[in-house]
Amino acid sequence: MPSERAISLSTKLEDLPGLAARSLPGLRELGLTNLGKLIAHLPIRHERLEAEAPVDELEAGHIVSARGEITATRVVLRKPQRFEAALMDDGRRLDLVWFNALYMRDRIKPGMRLRVQGKATKYGPGLQIANPKIEILKDEAEPLQSESRIRPVYSANERIKSAAIEQAISSVLDLALPLLKDHLPASLLAARELPPLPRAYELIHRPRNEGDAEEGRRRLAFDELLLLQLGVQMKRAHLRQQLRSPALALSREIDKRIRARFPFSLTPSQNHAITEIARDLSLSTPTNRLLQGDVGSGKTAVALYAMLMAVASGHQAALMAPTELLAEQHFATIRELLRDSKVDVRLVTGSQSDRAEALKEIAAGRAGIVIGTHALLEENVRFKSLALAIIDEQHRFGVHQRAALRAKSQIAGTTPHVIVMTATPIPRTLALTMFGDLDVTVIKGLPPGRAAVKTRSVPRSKRAEVYAFLRQRLDKGEQAFVVVPAIDSREQTDSAATVTGVRELVKELEAGTLASIPIAPLHGRMKHALRAETMDQFRAGTVRCLVATTIVEVGVDVPAATVMVIEHADHFGLAQLHQLRGRVGRGSNPGVCILIADEPTTESPEPSPRLELMVQTTDGFKLAEGDWQIRGSGGFFDARQSGLSSLRVADLHRDRELLELARRDAREWIERSPSLAAPDEALVLRRMMKTFGSELGLVAVG
Ligand code: ADP
Ligand code: MG
Repeated sequence: MPSERAISLSTKLEDLPGLAARSLPGLRELGLTNLGKLIAHLPIRHERLEAEAPVDELEAGHIVSARGEITATRVVLRKPQRFEAALMDDGRRLDLVWFNALYMRDRIKPGMRLRVQGKATKYGPGLQIANPKIEILKDEAEPLQSESRIRPVYSANERIKSAAIEQAISSVLDLALPLLKDHLPASLLAARELPPLPRAYELIHRPRNEGDAEEGRRRLAFDELLLLQLGVQMKRAHLRQQLRSPALALSREIDKRIRARFPFSLTPSQNHAITEIARDLSLSTPTNRLLQGDVGSGKTAVALYAMLMAVASGHQAALMAPTELLAEQHFATIRELLRDSKVDVRLVTGSQSDRAEALKEIAAGRAGIVIGTHALLEENVRFKSLALAIIDEQHRFGVHQRAALRAKSQIAGTTPHVIVMTATPIPRTLALTMFGDLDVTVIKGLPPGRAAVKTRSVPRSKRAEVYAFLRQRLDKGEQAFVVVPAIDSREQTDSAATVTGVRELVKELEAGTLASIPIAPLHGRMKHALRAETMDQFRAGTVRCLVATTIVEVGVDVPAATVMVIEHADHFGLAQLHQLRGRVGRGSNPGVCILIADEPTTESPEPSPRLELMVQTTDGFKLAEGDWQIRGSGGFFDARQSGLSSLRVADLHRDRELLELARRDAREWIERSPSLAAPDEALVLRRMMKTFGSELGLVAVG
């Protein structure tokens, strides 16, 4: 065993004095093998442990804690189903009850000694605690919790409980704290009223009260947000200072020629977006802009305008879409708008047959506009002079794809301008976090002449009525989508209900309510040619109703479609539901969206708040805010590959203000020191790269 002097954060746990050997296997299973890792295992929350009192001193209406022996238990099967136990302390009885938790009968047996905590309520002559927290007292001598205290709760496993982790950390914390080096300057800590790093660890692992715990958490949350923002800002600075893009000219003449291509006049909001984008593109500083606009707001027209600017300057432009279906649709739309023009438009997808020819035209620079899926990123796709890359529905692509597209420029030291488009409405603060290196343009509202979409949520028991209604609308000549969560029906593991799949539903509808109406399936496992043919037929109106998976989620633009039925709506996220709803009401006829909710179960007896929200509003920004409230930051936004998935302490909703501070501080810091190259910045740089480097695609910069 090394002397205390030789202990470092990388000292193996088995070499540490004071750590109980029996906790080692459990800690190892959690990946906690050395001192540094153990200390970095932060509590997931804190809870108050009330002081224990004898049962006859407990008071109704208070959170109380007591111990005693279980003398009797029983299961009650009539509703409300529950498990009951009697706890005796010195001849006084405390009743315990767990609702909808019959499994408790396997955990709690007569003869056991328990410590229980919860809110006491009057029950007959005595008191009862419903759904108490329990601790099984194995040891007669388990010390009495004589004073209430706050304790950290750690994520644990079968092998080791949170309390044992707490003990392990507590036993080595004093060894570790002096070894922790702070990466933030004292002046910043003072300005933000944050504790030094060692103090923060002490506060979060061993708080005396709730205030302590929050103070420690706040420092560590700030650290995460600041490191993320430093990375994001550093990337932006690098891009702007070291790389150049072709400056694209725009004359009155060109503007007129581009506008003449659209069968409508652009809305003020589209014009505003175009003004901002055109200004960006006219500079040789690389554009890096997020174009955000709700489903149906008309982003494609703005994108086409920008692409035609590139073509007019003798360069090429590319548009990358997340699915083949969407790429094909953009291709069809744009080719139609550019019919009889000199602009050659090409498609690049994984399953195309005329690929070789397309690649040749692209490499020679004759293809002015190239539309494709991520197949565009493949090495054999070479551009002669790519000036602009547009990425549709950015939330499905990560920073790596953006970087790969940037690298498609053939001239050293230059990079194409990049615009990313998203319909996923992102609250401003979050947009700036995820895409902090992007400038943001928002298209507000929808083009005129759109009738609103009415949304209704109906229980599954009314399913037959929904299809009868659908039949009526189809008989009137309208078109519809029916969306289900799966291609094939499947049993659900957690309930008796079966999830309807595309194939079975087509059979069911053809044989029943929709007999004699041309309907067709659409899903990702269909052959490409068949899928394209089905879409063409739907566009032409010869197929009147598509029964589909979420493959139709983004971008499908068929103005004649007016009805959207979503089966098992609870299975979809709010963002998906909103996107799906955006497929109807795109023409002048009003749209209807019907969400079929699953039957309530004992686990989720309430109607889903998401469906309620869908009924209440069609405004994507309101939905995003609402979803943020309901689910926290894990909801609407696909955080993967945006840096956000590395956030362990910070909660973007709760820590909004902290995020704003971190963003400002990071900005100033990077302005002063764009590469964090000063000797006293080495630690902050290293920690930033370690946490966010690869997610942000920063490796090349560092
Ligand atoms: P999104 O922003 O969801 O990508 P699209 O670009 O697909 O939206 O546009 C949705 C529909 O609105 C398309 O049918 C498009 O032709 C139409 N559209 C776009 N801009 C206008 C406009 N200024 N006036 C009328 N219709 C428009
Ligand atoms: Mg679109």
